[in-house]
Amino acid sequence: MDVTTENWLISLWLVVIGGCIGSFLNVIVYRVPLGLSVTHPGSHCPRCKHAVRWYDNIPVASWIWLRGKCRDCGESFSVRYAVIEAIVAMIFLAIGHCEGLSGGSNLPSTFYLAETGEVLYGDFTGWILCVYHLTLICTLICLVLIEYDQQTIARKLLGFSLLVGLLAPLIWPFLHPVRSTASWLEMSTSGWGAFASGVTGFVAGTVLALFAMALQGMRGSALTSTVLCSAIVGSFLGWPAVTAIVTTTVAFGSFSNLNPKKMPWTGPLLVITTIWTLAWKMIVARLSFLEDPSYWQTFVAALVLAVLCALPSLWKKRTN
Ligand SMILES: [Zn+2]
Repeated sequence: MDVTTENWLISLWLVVIGGCIGSFLNVIVYRVPLGLSVTHPGSHCPRCKHAVRWYDNIPVASWIWLRGKCRDCGESFSVRYAVIEAIVAMIFLAIGHCEGLSGGSNLPSTFYLAETGEVLYGDFTGWILCVYHLTLICTLICLVLIEYDQQTIARKLLGFSLLVGLLAPLIWPFLHPVRSTASWLEMSTSGWGAFASGVTGFVAGTVLALFAMALQGMRGSALTSTVLCSAIVGSFLGWPAVTAIVTTTVAFGSFSNLNPKKMPWTGPLLVITTIWTLAWKMIVARLSFLEDPSYWQTFVAALVLAVLCALPSLWKKRTN
């Protein structure tokens, strides 16, 4: 088989798998906050309780074919399910292409190349990276939707994601292409170096989001979920990345008048994290301090920016 045909087949496979995972995420979002099992019983109509036939359970296509209605009783299903399946399929296609097919063409990898001369993103490593980053994005999608449905955050989901984010790099150090630990720790290329990168990312994400969001006037569960989401992003992507992502989210939220008292900023955080993952190499090529883990001034600058972004709302509060 020639390369073009193979690439087309892999792309098709990514879209199909993405659609199925999207469908599974819909199940998680609906069932996990209610304490129900995600596997049993199988998909069924909430009104007539008829099991959904396998050929009526094909992501996106079945929704369009049945015009969003149950085949048995005509109950309508929200278009949201099909939209989520389509979005997840596209994200799988995009990340799968950059990381799996093109061997991490979206990732800054100069660190490895300089230190060991190794080319790390071969077939196998590229696909592991792909699964790692898709785990992060799928977790965020679930958390955002659960939040939108005003359900309580699923602790199991958070725990699972954090375990993967922090522990997987112990086995595969290449999962953290930008190290968050300074070179004086001298464990940069080992699993422990990658683990330290996840831990510093977790701490940076928590501290920065807590500080920035509280300054914006966010409180209660909105604050908790935004902080948890950025902590997870930090543990998967390391501290320079989460610092940039949270700062961009705060800037976007405060200048687009997204009311932090009414809703958490996890939605924009998810979108910015996805864009970051896809354009990581391009971004740090222009802003090289985001690649340098010993450049702690980046974090201080982010704290200052968080204060500057909060000034308009603090000012409004004073004059009211
Ligand atoms: Zn029905």
